[in-house]
Amino acid sequence: MQTYSITPLLTGVRNPDQGIMTYQKGYGKRIWLPIWAFLLRGGARNILVDTGLDENELMVPSGFFEETGMVPRSIVDCLAGEGLAVDNIDTVINTHLHDDHCGNNGLFRRAKFYVHESETAFCHHPHPIDHRYDPYFVEGIDFVAVADGAEIAPGITVIHSPGHSPGCLSVRVETGEGPAVITGFCCNAENFPAHGPAVCPGVHLDAMAAWDSIQKIKGLGAVILPLHELSLKRMAG
Ligand SMILES: [Zn+2]
Repeated sequence: MQTYSITPLLTGVRNPDQGIMTYQKGYGKRIWLPIWAFLLRGGARNILVDTGLDENELMVPSGFFEETGMVPRSIVDCLAGEGLAVDNIDTVINTHLHDDHCGNNGLFRRAKFYVHESETAFCHHPHPIDHRYDPYFVEGIDFVAVADGAEIAPGITVIHSPGHSPGCLSVRVETGEGPAVITGFCCNAENFPAHGPAVCPGVHLDAMAAWDSIQKIKGLGAVILPLHELSLKRMAG
């Protein structure tokens, strides 16, 4: 079976309230919210799950380095740190099309792009309640529209997990240590308490769908990699 290594790349950080991750829980607690892209390497493949934040939008809140020892970099610099250039990326899977997950799409001219079809449709005609979309991020990109269960490469499948946005895709990856799943929706470890159901993502267009999706991902029995979890730095190079 083809397996992959997973390397989170830190392309940005924000300093919001925990409640932006966990619906009706954790309000009043400031958190460091890392903006990761995930590099999957296996066989001869170099695959990105999300392309991270556009470096022109990168502003690092004071105290981040002092508290965490972490330094966000442009996606180009992150990849260079792994010995790769943008043209070495053959595949991009966008979990969804919020600005912090597709901000560098335009750099990857040799990559094949995968996204859920309802996500591109929404991005072209977003509702004003969600300000995180910008058609700029999808202009000129020839997306392959995929549905729930699609295999992107041997050992990599996507799971439609809507609610946070219409077309969220979680990504199940076979690794040397067993299956892992990168959530398709914005959350952190606080969304997955040790007991009881997972907590609905704090940002959602459909809270019930988002709740159902996160229970489904929790129930897969895979290692969960929440899109905005700070402790994933343990996996970073
Ligand atoms: Zn996000």
